[in-house]
Amino acid sequence: MLKMINNPVPWPDGARVAVCISFDIDADSILHLAHPDKAHRMAAAQSFLRYDRISVKRIVDMFDHFGIRQTFFFPAWCMETYPDLVEYILKSGHEIAHHGYIHESPNEQLCAEDEHHWLERGIETIERMTGQRPRGWRAPVYHFSEHSADLLVKEGFLYDASLMGDDVPYVLRAKSGEIVELPSHWGLDDWPQYTYLPELGARMPTKAPDEAMAVFWAEFEAQWKHGGLWVAVWHPSVSGRLARCDRIASMIEDMIEKGDVWFATMEEIARHVQSCREAGTWQPVVEDMPVSSRPLPGATFRPRTE
Ligand SMILES: [Zn+2]
Repeated sequence: MLKMINNPVPWPDGARVAVCISFDIDADSILHLAHPDKAHRMAAAQSFLRYDRISVKRIVDMFDHFGIRQTFFFPAWCMETYPDLVEYILKSGHEIAHHGYIHESPNEQLCAEDEHHWLERGIETIERMTGQRPRGWRAPVYHFSEHSADLLVKEGFLYDASLMGDDVPYVLRAKSGEIVELPSHWGLDDWPQYTYLPELGARMPTKAPDEAMAVFWAEFEAQWKHGGLWVAVWHPSVSGRLARCDRIASMIEDMIEKGDVWFATMEEIARHVQSCREAGTWQPVVEDMPVSSRPLPGATFRPRTE
């Protein structure tokens, strides 16, 4: 067979692919961040996002039905605002991971010191509400900064889930040490498939669930074939809507029927690849972070202004 991944991971029990259907529970944090002065007056947009109150429980029940445990990323503000969702998720043994405080952007809104402050603030909330420190982090809107890798290592994180640089896990090497990267990409994100929410500048034509799933499933088939990692980056207010969630249940059935699929939390995947690396059975690509700490020299390229 034509080999497309140079270092496929030896997944547990001979599985062909590791799957994590991860959900980011942003709720209305993103509306308050985008419109601090008027978010409280935007009732319809709020209700769109606060649909998480309904769909998170639906998603947890669906995972429970299939007997799989997955990972939910939370801005800490959302955990504090919707504590019943946290309890519901924990009761079924799913992982809760860090997704900022109120979905702030590390590389657009924060200096290194502020990024560290809000990272610590989220760690405190997760520790207080779940009984353990977070093992993983996903930057809000993938806005990983030049300081993120180093801060995550300093705070003892096991993995990051914000980047898109490989088909299999890889390793980020920062000043203070290393961290496992569990990559995904925009092709596995539900926002471009479905989201029409003009208040947040999202104007995607809404696709039928079958059409969106064709995109996600093509990625799954290829990862299954070549021994990769399939991480969905979905949102309860988007993919947890009834027709879409119903379609996800059929997708999970199809995955189970296909076989050799390892459904796991992000933590389990990160621990597995770490142990393979220690045992010498697998070698990740290692990337120094930040890749670059300053813009390219001005002379490299200048567009003509006429
Ligand atoms: Zn998010």
